[in-house]
Amino acid sequence: MTHPTRAVVDLEAIRDNVGLLAGIAGTPVMAMVKADAYGHGAVPVARAALEAGAAWLGVAFVEEALALRAAGIIAPVLVGVIPPGTDVEPAVAADVDLGAGTLRLLAEIADAAARVGRTARVHLKADTGMSRGGTTEREWPALVEAALKAEAAGTVSVVGIWSHLACSDEPDHPSVARQTKAFAAMVGHAEAAGIRPEVRHLANSSAVLHLPETHWDLVRPGIAVYGLNPAPDLPDPGLRPAMTVTSTVTVAKRVPEGSGVSYGHLYTTDRETTVALVPAGYADGVPRGGSGILEVLAAGRRRRIAGRVCMDQFVIDVGDDPVAEGDEVVLFGPGDRGEATATDWAHALGTVSYEIVTRLGGRVPRVHLDRRTTDARE
Ligand SMILES: *Cc1c(COP(=O)(O)O)cnc(C)c1O
Repeated sequence: MTHPTRAVVDLEAIRDNVGLLAGIAGTPVMAMVKADAYGHGAVPVARAALEAGAAWLGVAFVEEALALRAAGIIAPVLVGVIPPGTDVEPAVAADVDLGAGTLRLLAEIADAAARVGRTARVHLKADTGMSRGGTTEREWPALVEAALKAEAAGTVSVVGIWSHLACSDEPDHPSVARQTKAFAAMVGHAEAAGIRPEVRHLANSSAVLHLPETHWDLVRPGIAVYGLNPAPDLPDPGLRPAMTVTSTVTVAKRVPEGSGVSYGHLYTTDRETTVALVPAGYADGVPRGGSGILEVLAAGRRRRIAGRVCMDQFVIDVGDDPVAEGDEVVLFGPGDRGEATATDWAHALGTVSYEIVTRLGGRVPRVHLDRRTTDARE
């Protein structure tokens, strides 16, 4: 591996976080590994989560589920986002669970199941007030009726009923109680009509931590599995960030006072100083909006990025400190050595840690560290 910037993913942290979340919820856990496990590497993270007791996996798209199956993972996997035109046959054939929030999609799944000659496992998705995926309360009886017909025909088995919360990171937000109540009503309607779901599920990470009334039969944490606090203004139970992104100083040199640094000369040195070049840019996931704002750790101290983040590199001004070519630079990590966390970067940029970890570039290798075996695999 030659790329100078890498994301080291601590699988022991993933396991610890899953164990912590399972203990808090007291229910089975569906570890959300969509978007390549929030940038952490879907297959190794999925395996670690299952080892730690997660019983289910959740992804967004069919191809993400099939990639887990291709890697030999046989645990239940739920697909949540199924755009029109998606070929769901391979998913039905691979025993992948499908979220269905519209009559059209339910019919497509049932047709695919008939063609494959297998019963499709479906989770009926309720829109309890987020107005994202799912069927609204008004249309719900029609979806339930269609599902019962498909069950009678043997094409579909309703394994789950689920919904998603809009504001679980603000536990006092009035929408939380409204959505929780709507979910209970919609589950109640479906069960009264004869649906017998194995799992009813509503809670994402913040709801696992702060809204026990939303736990039902299964919880779906994502960001907390990766050790990042889903609601940074509220305490977390000791989650450990799994990802550390590092790079290496490629050039360190003295420049005179008054030297303009990087594109646009947004930064000018105010004395003779050492500038160090770090070969990570916005193509690697260092946001250009972090120019002059984000801090990285070099030679034991945090240093602000000097001037613009370029596509492949940025510069730091290290003063008279002994920073040399080849030195390690920590972009973000768990914070143990004084480095920023993904949450710190997100706070500085007005975004969420989810975006910091998922936006890491494709050319940044993910190195999976398994402290049980001291085995590092790319
Ligand atoms: C992404 C997602 C989750 C996980 O959300 P976190 O806030 O990362 O815990 C759970 N459920 C659904 C439907 C999702 O899309």
